[in-house]
Amino acid sequence: MTRVFSGIKPTGHLTLGNYLGAMRQWAAVDQHRADAVFCVVDLHGMTVDHDPARLRRLTRQAATLLLAAGLDPELCTVFVQSHVDEHTRLSYVMECVATDGEMRRMIQYKEKVAGEGARGRGVRLSLLTYPALMAADILAYGADEVPVGDDQSQHVELTRDLAVRFNQRYGHTFVVPKATVPAVAARVMNLQDPGSKMGKSDDSGPGIVYLLDEPDVIRKKVMRAVTDSGREVVYDREERPGVANLLEILAACTGGNPESLASVHDSYGALKQATAEAVLETLRPVQARHRELCADPGYVEEVLRHGAEKARAIARPIVDTAYRAVGL
Ligand code: ADP
Repeated sequence: MTRVFSGIKPTGHLTLGNYLGAMRQWAAVDQHRADAVFCVVDLHGMTVDHDPARLRRLTRQAATLLLAAGLDPELCTVFVQSHVDEHTRLSYVMECVATDGEMRRMIQYKEKVAGEGARGRGVRLSLLTYPALMAADILAYGADEVPVGDDQSQHVELTRDLAVRFNQRYGHTFVVPKATVPAVAARVMNLQDPGSKMGKSDDSGPGIVYLLDEPDVIRKKVMRAVTDSGREVVYDREERPGVANLLEILAACTGGNPESLASVHDSYGALKQATAEAVLETLRPVQARHRELCADPGYVEEVLRHGAEKARAIARPIVDTAYRAVGL
C-alpha cells in the first residue's frame, strides 16, 4: 500500500491555509487511500526563537485540530515528532549526506534568515539544517508520497536528492518519495497582503484566518480583505491577486471553480459575503469537534501515545538499516 507522510509545524495557531492546503485533503482523501502518517513536527518549531510553554501548548493544539479536522486514528497514524527518537537519529545521518551549499540554497532558509536577522536575534543553526530533519521525517517512514503545499516542494526535492545519494553510496535503503500538491487551494494567500501566503507564524495578523477564530472575527477578516479599485469580479491572479485569492478560497470551500464563481458575484462586497459564509460553514464542524476533544484531554493523550508507538514500529527498522549501512 502507498505510504503517505506529512507534517505540520506548531509555530503558531493553525490557519485556513493549513486546513484548505493540507489537513482537509489528509482527512478526506489520503487517510482513506493510503497508509498515512501525520506528524506534529515540534522539533521544527524550535528552529526559530521559541517559548517552551507556548510550543507545548501549540503542539497539543495542532494535534487536537488534526483530529478535529477528521484524521481518524483507526485509519491513519497521528503523533508528535519529538515522541519518536528515530527522527533525530536519522537527521544526523542526513546531515552527513547533505552539503552545506544545498542547505543554504533553500528559499525558506533565505527568507527566514532575512526575518530573523531583522529581529536582531541570532539565526539558529537548526534553521539551516532543518531540511535534513525534514528528510529524516519522510525517509524514516519509507514514504512514497508527501502531500505538501507548493511552498514545501523544494524541501521534498532535496529529500529525494538525499535519498538517491544515500542509496547510491551505501546501498538501497530509502524509498525515494515524491511531493503531491493538492489541485485546489494549494496556496491560500494573506487577506491583507495577497502577494504572500497565509502563514501561521505571523500571529494575530488581520489577514490570517485562524481555525479557532470566532465566527464574527472570521467574518470581519474576510470582509476587510484587500482587493483593488476594480468593480467587476474577474479571476486574474496576476492583475487582481486579492480577488483571485477570495475566489480560490470560496472555490475550495464550496467545491466550485474560481472562474465560474467569478461570474456569479456582481460586486466585491457580494463575493466577500459569500466567501465569509463559505469559510464559516467549512470551519464550523472542525471547531465543534475541537471543543469536544478539548473536553476529553485523556483521549487526545492516548491517541498520541498510541500514534507514537505505531510510528516507532515503522521507523525503527528503517533507521536501524540506515545506521548499519553507514557503518554505525
Ligand atoms: P506554515 O507555513 O503555516 O508554518 P507548515 O510548514 O506547518 O505551515 O505546513 C503545514 C502544511 O500546510 C504544509 O503542507 C503546507 O504546505 C500547508 N500550508 C501552510 N500554509 C499554507 C497556505 N497558506 N496555503 C496552502 N497550504 C498551506
